[in-house]
Amino acid sequence: MRHKEPFAQESKSMLPRRKFLATGAAFLAPLALAQRGNTPAGGEGLPLEQFAPKSMLKVPEHPVAKAKFPLIDWHTHITSSTVAGKQIRFSMTPETCLPVMDRRNIQTMVNLTGGYGDALREAIEKLQTAHPGRFVVFTEPAYDRASEADYAKSQGELIDDAFKAGAKGLKILKRLGLVLRETGSNQLVHIDDKRFDPMWEAAGSHRMPVAIHISDPLAFFLPIDKNNERWEELHAHPDWGYYGKGLPGDKELQEARRNVMRRHPKTNFVCLHVADSEDLAYVSECMDSHPNMYVDIAARVGELGRQPRMARKFFDKYQDRIVFGTDASPSPMTPQQIFGDELYQIYFRFLETEDEYFDYAPAPTPPQGRWQISGVGLPDRILKKIYHDNAARLLRI
Ligand SMILES: [Zn+2]
Repeated sequence: MRHKEPFAQESKSMLPRRKFLATGAAFLAPLALAQRGNTPAGGEGLPLEQFAPKSMLKVPEHPVAKAKFPLIDWHTHITSSTVAGKQIRFSMTPETCLPVMDRRNIQTMVNLTGGYGDALREAIEKLQTAHPGRFVVFTEPAYDRASEADYAKSQGELIDDAFKAGAKGLKILKRLGLVLRETGSNQLVHIDDKRFDPMWEAAGSHRMPVAIHISDPLAFFLPIDKNNERWEELHAHPDWGYYGKGLPGDKELQEARRNVMRRHPKTNFVCLHVADSEDLAYVSECMDSHPNMYVDIAARVGELGRQPRMARKFFDKYQDRIVFGTDASPSPMTPQQIFGDELYQIYFRFLETEDEYFDYAPAPTPPQGRWQISGVGLPDRILKKIYHDNAARLLRI
């Protein structure tokens, strides 16, 4: 019923115009309608956040209830570690995850943020040991020690310790490159800083893959203005924007990661979020020059699905080096990642069907930009690699 009402009238009754101006809300101006003598009664404009168009397209829909092959979700956050990585907090439990996993044919969830030391041991015990085959846990660096004189060596040893404890890989948050600074100074710690070399080498020697998130969506590096394609998301979370804060740009961060991959050819790096998902030509160039580079697709079906033909070619060409991931967590801050049945069904539909113009997130408004996606319809032989085989090979499970 709501959509039958003239929307301007509805908006007027909810918020007087003066208040709109005071809140700085964005509008879809009714000017064009008014010029055509077609203004809805009382039309004064519609706040962008209230715009919720329903597609009139009649196109085939093929919902996918269950993954076609048992899948490994390479990228989840069941625990989160404190900044220092010494303590962890469980944001979900095996009991909340397992029923969804069973319903959706998810064999294994990889919990990337497992911390280190005792925190890591706790995560391994409660997830990996208690539910063999269903959960895998990664370790994280001890950044709190990064400014200590013997950090390079001790961080290498911490990876040995994590491996002995049962950690299957190493996770690097985007904190490295954008947030982490030297103790007592304002200097950012560089991604390709040599003090991390023993860490990358230790991971490689234990055949622990490195799940590495560097940079962020390209729009986060631009001014939050009318041309920014993620205006709503950045308007809701202005602290997610990097523009004007004296931080390195996207390509500078990407190139620093390439230096690391180049220097450590025996270590496998899974560049999270398709590395640089809005620029697949650049990602392809990186994949071609670094045989030890992989990518996951976590939280980026919204990006891949708005370039389905380019994405399909990418899946074809790099079918042995792409892993399935969602970045699932229960956080309402990121609706495109909320763990649950609905989230997985969107990914399945994107990968398994050629459906057109559907939502990429379980949310009333597309949270990462106002567009819809189309599926890439992968054939079984590629789908099985993305869902399972590539991650299983990397994790040796
Ligand atoms: Zn993540």
